[in-house]
Amino acid sequence: MQLLLMGPPGAGKGTQAAELVKKFNIPHISTGDMFRAAVKEGTELGKQAKAVMDAGGLVPDEITIGIVKERLAKADCKKGFILDGFPRTVEQADALSKILDELGMKLTRVLNIHVPFEDLIERAVGRRICKSCGATYHIKFNPTQKDGVCDDCGGELYQRKDDNEETMKNRLSAYENSTKPLIDYYKKADLYTEIDGRQPIDKVTEDLVSVLSSVN
Ligand code: ADP
Ligand code: AMP
Repeated sequence: MQLLLMGPPGAGKGTQAAELVKKFNIPHISTGDMFRAAVKEGTELGKQAKAVMDAGGLVPDEITIGIVKERLAKADCKKGFILDGFPRTVEQADALSKILDELGMKLTRVLNIHVPFEDLIERAVGRRICKSCGATYHIKFNPTQKDGVCDDCGGELYQRKDDNEETMKNRLSAYENSTKPLIDYYKKADLYTEIDGRQPIDKVTEDLVSVLSSVN
C-alpha cells in the first residue's frame, strides 16, 4: 500500500501514521522528521533546513525532493509506505509521480485529514513529543498519564521549536499558498479522500482504515 497522508500542520498526520504503521507494517516517511533528525545531527542538510524550519517556511523543493527520492528507493519501501508532509508543493507532487514511475510504483490513495484552521494553532502549541521514541501527545487532547513522561517508553517529552503561535501562522500560510492546491491535484488524479480530523484520534484511525479496506 502506497499512501499519502495530507493535511495542514497539526491535523494529526503523524499521530495517524503511527497507527497505520502498526496496522499495515509499512514505513512512515515524514520529511519533517527527516529534517529534524538532520538538524539534530548537524549535517549539511540540517544546516540548510534549520533557518527555514524555524521561520515556518518551506525547505527548497530540490533539497526535499532529493531526500525523498533516496528514501523511497530503499528496500523497506517495496512493500509500501506512508508519506507524511510530502509533497507540499505542486512541483514536489510532479516529482513524486516521476519517482514512483521510475520505481514501478503507484499511489494507492491520498488521504487528507481535514481540520479547520481555527483548531490548528492550539493543536500545535499543545503538542509534545517523546525524545526517545518519538510518540506524539497533546497536553489537552492526548495527555500522558504522568506529566512530561512518555506512556510508551518513559522517555522525556519536548516541545518542537516551531510549535509556537507566531511560527504556526507562517506554517499555515505556507500550507494555504503552496500545499492546498494539491487537493485539486489529487482530486483530478482520482486518488483523493477526505477524512474528518476533528473527531477523536481513534475515530479518525477507524475512518482511515475503513477507506483503505475498500481500496485494497
Ligand atoms: P501533524 O503530523 O499533522 O502535524 P500531529 O499528529 O503531530 O499532526 O498532531 C498535532 C497535535 O494534535 C498533537 O499534539 C496530537 O496529539 C494532537 N492530535 C492529533 N490528532 C488529534 C485529534 N483527532 N483530536 C485532537 N488532537 C489531536
Ligand atoms: P512537519 O514536521 O511536517 O510539520 O514539518 C516541519 C517543517 O519541515 C516544515 O514547516 C518545513 O519547514 C519543513 N518541511 C517538512 N516537509 C517539507 C516539504 N515536503 N517541503 C518543504 N519543507 C518541508
